Amino acid sequence: MELVNCNRCGKLQVQRPDTLCKDCQQLYASEALIVKEYIKMNPGATIMDVVQHTGYTLKRIKEILR
Ligand SMILES: [Zn+2]
Repeated sequence: MELVNCNRCGKLQVQRPDTLCKDCQQLYASEALIVKEYIKMNPGATIMDVVQHTGYTLKRIKEILR
């Protein structure tokens, strides 16, 4: 069993492919839901619209939309 630091908060966790701990995964999942919902409701929205609407960082949103 290999331990790694969570990619986001640095908490130690058992290694998994996405390198996020359970807490951050949950956070990411809820953020992803909000971003995807916004895009669904606003099909013409640019990524900057999403940034402004959600307050999340550009990097985060790009990760979600990847
Ligand atoms: Zn974490």
